[in-house]
Amino acid sequence: MQRRLTFFIFTMSSINYNLSLIKGIAFDIDGVLSPSTIPMAPDGSLLRMANVKDGFAMRLAAKRGLKIAIISGADCYTIRQRMAPLGITDIYLNASDKLPVLKEWMTVNGLAPEEIAFVGDDIPDIPPMRAIGLPVAPADAATEVKCIARYISPFAGGQGVARDLLEQILKMQNLWLEHEDAFHW
Ligand SMILES: [Mg+2]
Repeated sequence: MQRRLTFFIFTMSSINYNLSLIKGIAFDIDGVLSPSTIPMAPDGSLLRMANVKDGFAMRLAAKRGLKIAIISGADCYTIRQRMAPLGITDIYLNASDKLPVLKEWMTVNGLAPEEIAFVGDDIPDIPPMRAIGLPVAPADAATEVKCIARYISPFAGGQGVARDLLEQILKMQNLWLEHEDAFHW
């Protein structure tokens, strides 16, 4: 007899926004996908970290057709190696001014401001966060960023803020664990 697992998924969201609108999510790296504190190797290179639970949710969101972008002022080229297996290719590095980069990504993908969430943690993220519908901050974001965020995640940068946001979006859109392939990598 075939056994089926039934998941009773609590679909109430803690985010005060209509998450069914969201079609694209853009993330900063340092302080969002990676912690604010960056270990430095003896050769001076910076060592970012990646949260595996963020990774699962990003992979699933990309599989479900949500657009994911990485927009960073850093030149963290290893991020491409991390993101490629997750199916994420819209990666913009050395973005000293993030707003025009975000606008270009929105134009290329036909995304309206209310269809976008942007997760940022520090002052350079404020212009793109003001330009879209759902600005999100990690728990340890700068005060000025928290002041303009519509949702402040209980998770700090690099500690699951992307998982928290994407899980709530996918659950609200009935895209979280409703399909068998969610259980395959
Ligand atoms: Mg940052």
